[in-house]
Amino acid sequence: MSTVRLILGDQLNPEHPWFRRRDPSVTYVLMEVRSETDYVRHHAQKVLAVLAGMRRLADHLRGKGHKVRYFRLGDPDNAQGFAANLRTALAEARATRLEHQEPDEWRLDQELAAFRRECGIEAAVVGSDHFLDARDGVARHFGKSRSRWLMESYYRSVRARTGLLMDADGEPEGGRWNFDADNRKPWHGQPPAPRPWDGKADLRGLWAEIQAAGVATFGEPSAGAFPWPLDRREALAHLRAFMERGLPSFGDYEDAMHTSSDRLFHSRLSHALNVKLLHPLEVAQAAVEAHRADPGRVPLAATEGFVRQIIGWREYIRGVYWARMPEYAESNALGHDLPLPSWFWTGAVRMNCLRHAIGQSLATAYAHHIQRLMVIGSFCLTAGVRPREVERWFLGVYVDAFEWVELPNVIGMSQHADGGFLGSKPYCGAAAYINRMSDYCKGCPYDPKDRLGPLACPLNALYWDFWLRHAGRFKDNPRIGMAVRQAMRMDPAEKAAIRAKAAALRAGIEEL
Ligand code: FAD
Ligand code: SF4
Repeated sequence: MSTVRLILGDQLNPEHPWFRRRDPSVTYVLMEVRSETDYVRHHAQKVLAVLAGMRRLADHLRGKGHKVRYFRLGDPDNAQGFAANLRTALAEARATRLEHQEPDEWRLDQELAAFRRECGIEAAVVGSDHFLDARDGVARHFGKSRSRWLMESYYRSVRARTGLLMDADGEPEGGRWNFDADNRKPWHGQPPAPRPWDGKADLRGLWAEIQAAGVATFGEPSAGAFPWPLDRREALAHLRAFMERGLPSFGDYEDAMHTSSDRLFHSRLSHALNVKLLHPLEVAQAAVEAHRADPGRVPLAATEGFVRQIIGWREYIRGVYWARMPEYAESNALGHDLPLPSWFWTGAVRMNCLRHAIGQSLATAYAHHIQRLMVIGSFCLTAGVRPREVERWFLGVYVDAFEWVELPNVIGMSQHADGGFLGSKPYCGAAAYINRMSDYCKGCPYDPKDRLGPLACPLNALYWDFWLRHAGRFKDNPRIGMAVRQAMRMDPAEKAAIRAKAAALRAGIEEL
């Protein structure tokens, strides 16, 4: 009896129950394959982070005495796909059983299910031991009847279930479930944004291997020490650094953006979480403990805001993905059909907010939530870019982008392409929002206060035109009806001017 256990590139948790016991009849298989590096064009740092993390895990397992079969990108016997390499590994091990952890992506779930059916030996799927809920946990929470799921309701149920930030009497700590309203301050450069956790790895050798293999990437591979954690020890150090330096101000400046810092007080923990170097519960618990240890330094509003992202949004998004795939990926409820501008791949655009957010993404494989949602996403939404093209760009560019979390955030939350199933309103803003929450407008050739002039901020006409175009759909939505009604109240000449300006902006989108 011999077993092969497949480990995927986002399953890097060295504390998975699999590894508790050394078993000479088990071979762990990891593979760097072109089918994964090439299914979308990825940022250089994303490919590096995943492959280096896989190599670290393989070394760790070998060090603990486990048997490991590792396919490197350049190995001559690497068939560059899961099925063919698995067949090789099964034959080499004379395996009688195949096991793998539950994949998080629909595409891989299908591929591995087909392989299990056809491999001719006993095959089983085990949990990845990573999420707080099962794939269908969110769907079960809402039941089949609801047409729209509200994250808040699900989040409260997880708080109650885990006891996180709950009083003994079952009430939320501080008497409120949600401190979002306290978390909307702009940031003016003080207190200084914390230094991010410093990586130490030198990945130049691996980068040379990736290039030699001909993998087409984009973005900067990172000049010095690699900035993303590659094993659990590094991920824990990153987590501690955030609790110490970032969390105290996370809440206050959660929505702020500033040219002097790409992360402000955000954690940059999404990559470590998504490749399973950190468990979501331990991250949320670490925040609660930091608050309990010193509530004066780590306020409840910051702690609740952070915990909500991890145990609320992250789990909820995953539930939407599994409930709605595969049709969800092609949603386009608003009928948007503009191609993605080519400057998304270069950052060469004059609009300073977009130049900064896209340029930063290309340089660092990271942007924080508000940059993704209210700058890049909001532009695509109001301009009317094809949601699927926006989604493919987001999937490639960010180090933390795995389809189960990226796709619903883009298709649902950011592009409203699911018709409002995930988010009850479209998230978009005009220049007034960007100007309030960032310093981007100061360095911009466009005028944030103008709508129609030659140097008027393009976001203004696009924003009002968006409401005019979709007024019928949104006028009765209590969360945004006011913006729509304001658009509808404009006199006919103004409406026509906005429509004409927006049409011209769309026609000249490459020149913005
Ligand atoms: P923090 O602000 O420090 O938040 C803490 C953690 O909460 C994050 O690390 C993340 O794990 C979780 N989180 C916060 N918001 C969300 C959310 N909306 N959905 C799921 N988890 C959340 N997140 C990804 O992990 N991968 C993606 O590919 C991704 N794509 C996105 C695309 C768009 C258009 C938008 C609007 C959001 C996207 N997000 C994605 C969610 C969120 O923007 C990122 O998780 C966050 O910016 C990562 O940075 P951070 O670790 O500093 O986050
Ligand atoms: Fe962006 Fe408009 Fe401000 Fe320029 S003026 S930075 S385009 S919001």
